[in-house]
Amino acid sequence: RGGNHKKSKWKSIRVVCRVRPMLPKELAEGEKASCDVEDHKVRAMDPHGKATLYRFASALPPGAGQESVYDAVLLDDIVDHVIHGYGACMLAYGQTGSGKSHTMIGPDGGIEIPSPSDNNAGVIPRTIHKLFTQTKSLTLSFCEVYNEQVFDLLHEIRMTIEKMKGIIHKDVAAGLAKPLKIKWDRDDGFYVDDLTTVTVTSAEEAIQVLQIGTSARKVASHDLNRASSRSHGILDIKLGNGGRLMFGDLAGSERLKASKVSGIHAKETGHINKSLFILGTVINALSSSSSNKLSLISSRIRETVLTKLLGATLTGNSITCLVACVNPCLRQGAETLRTLDYASTAQ
Ligand code: ADP
Repeated sequence: RGGNHKKSKWKSIRVVCRVRPMLPKELAEGEKASCDVEDHKVRAMDPHGKATLYRFASALPPGAGQESVYDAVLLDDIVDHVIHGYGACMLAYGQTGSGKSHTMIGPDGGIEIPSPSDNNAGVIPRTIHKLFTQTKSLTLSFCEVYNEQVFDLLHEIRMTIEKMKGIIHKDVAAGLAKPLKIKWDRDDGFYVDDLTTVTVTSAEEAIQVLQIGTSARKVASHDLNRASSRSHGILDIKLGNGGRLMFGDLAGSERLKASKVSGIHAKETGHINKSLFILGTVINALSSSSSNKLSLISSRIRETVLTKLLGATLTGNSITCLVACVNPCLRQGAETLRTLDYASTAQ
């Protein structure tokens, strides 16, 4: 390793904001818009009509298509960076329904993951396609962090392979994966013990794996009676040369009123708030010039499962991109301001 490939063109972190269009239902309900996008700026209104202006590396208006996200986050640079053996991380932040999965994968929560050439394809299928123009294989793992526990989203693939190879003789029901342990290693830093890894040799295969993991996330949320929006989804892509790229579809950032949640939901909310807060401090520290920055970052990273797992592609020679996703409706104005505050503090 060593060197500082591409990093000079990048600040440690690039923050992009995307305001999604109003959905047909919102238009039918006569929703009003809470924000305007102009050039690199977003002007957002609070519920009382007071406007605040935020400036980002790039800001995408509701009409911007999926291909413009790829350009706005400089994904060609990110691909180039990992092809040269470095780390990169791309995160989608925002309240539930603000367009995180749409941006990362494609429409309707990735029920059907679009092929990379589809206009609707999100940044993950596009990036996978681009990586395969420059490499022959990728190793994928895909997990979900829920209530500070890690679950393997590719568990089913491993069960199928082990059954085929005769490693498992009985007819094991795929079932839900058990929570896995996080361990630490001098070379690799934090890692998830026993997480399934799958090596793929084409974009089509990679998309199939992604589809299986995305469905597993839905099934888990259904069977355990919790919304997948309450968990973080982390796709980890490794290249043979040591390059590594992580995509994080973060849990919904919305504040739930204490009066509306209790018990398990309150605990969930607490974990989500803490992990997003610590992530924010880590990201913020990346761009600081303070002399004790490295020790500050490494002590913060240990505080939550999310930051432990993302740590490898947040630090060192890695580049990070945060996409703040925004619901355009005035009724959601308070959440929109919180998202914009978080995103602008991160940069
Ligand atoms: P989140 O992952 O933040 O909960 P989703 O990505 O599921 O939100 O978005 C909510 C809904 O809005 C989905 O039906 C999605 O397809 C739609 N949507 C989000 N962003 C866009 C967009 N830029 N253009 C069109 N539809 C969008």
